[in-house]
Amino acid sequence: MFKKSFIYLITLLMSGIISLNTGCESKDGYNSDLIISNALIVTMDADFRVIENGAIVIAGDSIVAIGNSDELLGMFKAPKIIDGKGRLVMPGLINTHTHSPMTIFRGFADDLPLHEWLYDHIFPVEAEFITKENVSLGAKLAIVEMLQSGTTTFNDMYYFGDEIAHVVEKAGIRAVITEGLIDFAVPNSESPEHGINYTERMIKKWAGHSLVTIGVAAHAPYSSSGELIVASKALADRYNVPFNIHVAETKKEFDQIMSKHGLTPVQYLNKLGVLSSNMIMAHGIHLTEEDIKIVAEKGVGIAHNPECNMKLASGVAPVPDILAAGGKVGLGTDGVASNNNLDMFDEMNTAALLHKLHKNDPTVLDARTVVEMATIGGARVLGMDDKIGSIEKGKKADIIIIDLGKPHLHPLFNVYSLVVYSMKSSDVESVIVNGQIVMQNRNVLNIDEKALYSQVDSLVAEILKYVENR
Ligand SMILES: [Zn+2]
Repeated sequence: MFKKSFIYLITLLMSGIISLNTGCESKDGYNSDLIISNALIVTMDADFRVIENGAIVIAGDSIVAIGNSDELLGMFKAPKIIDGKGRLVMPGLINTHTHSPMTIFRGFADDLPLHEWLYDHIFPVEAEFITKENVSLGAKLAIVEMLQSGTTTFNDMYYFGDEIAHVVEKAGIRAVITEGLIDFAVPNSESPEHGINYTERMIKKWAGHSLVTIGVAAHAPYSSSGELIVASKALADRYNVPFNIHVAETKKEFDQIMSKHGLTPVQYLNKLGVLSSNMIMAHGIHLTEEDIKIVAEKGVGIAHNPECNMKLASGVAPVPDILAAGGKVGLGTDGVASNNNLDMFDEMNTAALLHKLHKNDPTVLDARTVVEMATIGGARVLGMDDKIGSIEKGKKADIIIIDLGKPHLHPLFNVYSLVVYSMKSSDVESVIVNGQIVMQNRNVLNIDEKALYSQVDSLVAEILKYVENR
């Protein structure tokens, strides 16, 4: 009996199903910290393995084993075991483009074209209300919303990034944080140079942090000069961090860059020499065939934000063509002021439906491809696919647990169809980031929700007073 178990253990070790590099057994007999057992696991690994009656073993911040639940429970002991019976477990969702503090402007100015919305409404109210305190408040509200809808990593572009980083650290979510560099004075910077210096200080301050990655951002080719884009991209390259920029979001931008530089926005950026694999291009809607080829060849990641693009009538990004060309595409929500939520389940559903209608072809962007964009695809866009985006041994434990005990989640024929076409963000029951439980039974553990809502209500009263008197 012993010999048989021993041979079986050796076989599992060799096959990579389990790993014993979990540190020493503690005096309580534990050799891991947390086990999720008896679950239906959608791994999103290279083979798209789906494991029934599966278990995930977590030690510290990482996944150390994944496989059959009964087998792993026989080998690992943890002080906490989550029974995943009747639960679907999948990688945490990755929001590749947002402006988290803009939650405080949810519903502030709707049903307007992008340039009017941005220049006549958003920029003026930001100039009045974007302070360190309000940025923290907006980021907190965003993070509660994101955790409750299954997002474990977000890629942010805003102002006062250091305040956002502190909220991220406290909440226990993972984020790429970038300071939007733009040609004019903004709430946190009197000049673009000030913004660049601030960004560099943040990069140094947060280097090596387990949850926070500081990147660099230029706002867009129409609002950031060529010199600013080149200088900010050089900073990102110097520290090997992600670089965010909005590109080809509207036809107006396309025409403006075309008439000024005689090139498409993508070809203009290519001429500036800034296209490379650490660039995350938000939107990428108005792309020519040549642009798509360039983006794919340069390894530029596209953050696709279908709901925002529909709401502002910006257009439909050629996502199926970018994927066919070998490009990297992730999903994002963009800021709440143009969406008006941070719900990645909504975004998956919209992406799948929008492209089918747009191409007049129901086979376009099948459900599995869409789940891939929201998980491992998003991780590739952020350059973090060695760490997150799938449930695999050695990766960080960023995991969401979904309660399948709902009418709209029965019956289950295809897990990817279930996730994209039927699941709602409110089905997410618990969330683990970096090995820590940060939401349990829908309670966000590190942020006081009630106090948060009353603070937000007070701020909204101030914003309304400002609107009345303007
Ligand atoms: Zn944006």
